[in-house]
Amino acid sequence: MSVRHLADDELDLVLGGEPLAAEREAHLRDCIVCRRRRDAFLGVVAEARAEDPDEATRARVREAALAAWQSRPVVHWWRWAAAAVAVAVLGLVPLLHNRTVPLQIIDTEAVMAEVDAALARDPLAAFASEDVVDEIVPVGESTGEGSAS
Ligand SMILES: [Zn+2]
Repeated sequence: MSVRHLADDELDLVLGGEPLAAEREAHLRDCIVCRRRRDAFLGVVAEARAEDPDEATRARVREAALAAWQSRPVVHWWRWAAAAVAVAVLGLVPLLHNRTVPLQIIDTEAVMAEVDAALARDPLAAFASEDVVDEIVPVGESTGEGSAS
């Protein structure tokens, strides 16, 4: 006479609280092998549940998380916009740098010498266009020194 122990799906029914056929219920009641198997599953389940924090701990963690969330620093939308613009600009810098004419080192001495020479030739021309200068100081006057009157 062979004993037919509970199959896995029957054990699943037991663990889920579902009823078994009366004959299988009787077997479970009388068979130590099947009871130990069931109890081992239940033990694993109980152990897994024991790893969860108790309700008081959960409530404390929830309160702490809520408090942390409510006291978080407020970040205004414009700060995010400014940060986005900064990121965009900084991201464009390498592109622009590659596309612009390479910076030339300005020879300030040469520029100042040229300005000085222009001022020495015609001080007014440095500040006004040639047409304006001709209007104010007509060229070809006998004196060579124009008269504005
Ligand atoms: Zn059994």
